[in-house]
Amino acid sequence: MTKIKNVKHLVVHCAATPPSRDIGVAEIRAMHKQRGFNDVGYHYVIRRDGRIEKGRADTVIGAHVSGFNATSLGICMVGGINAKGWSEQNFTPAQFEALRGLLPKLKAAHPDAEILGHRDLSPDTNRDGKVSRNEWLKDCPCFDVRDWLAGNPPQFQVR
Ligand SMILES: [Zn+2]
Repeated sequence: MTKIKNVKHLVVHCAATPPSRDIGVAEIRAMHKQRGFNDVGYHYVIRRDGRIEKGRADTVIGAHVSGFNATSLGICMVGGINAKGWSEQNFTPAQFEALRGLLPKLKAAHPDAEILGHRDLSPDTNRDGKVSRNEWLKDCPCFDVRDWLAGNPPQFQVR
């Protein structure tokens, strides 16, 4: 197992599951193993009822964000698509409360880490210094993490 040397990003994801699917680490681990990973790709999973389940150890490199796994921790909110399979911000208040409690603890352990959403690590293709909506490779986690952290309601945004 390769160890993380320095955590630079705390990356919020969604599981891309409909709200009716009440899954946690065990189910996601099984899905990720089927994709050839040796364990669940995330370090934390926040279930629909707000319970936080531990995935990989924080010291072990995850499998959740292309190009940044060696220097980040992945936190997955279960939900994020609707019954038709379209991106949707459908997380429960309990999940946001859990995320609001977890992030400061991780930030305290990794003071230099920036908190953001998966899509915020898409390539800045026009090199203007910011990753804009038209540059997102995916919608994950379907809300603006930095805006929400600043105290605003979770904004549903997709490409
Ligand atoms: Zn993601």
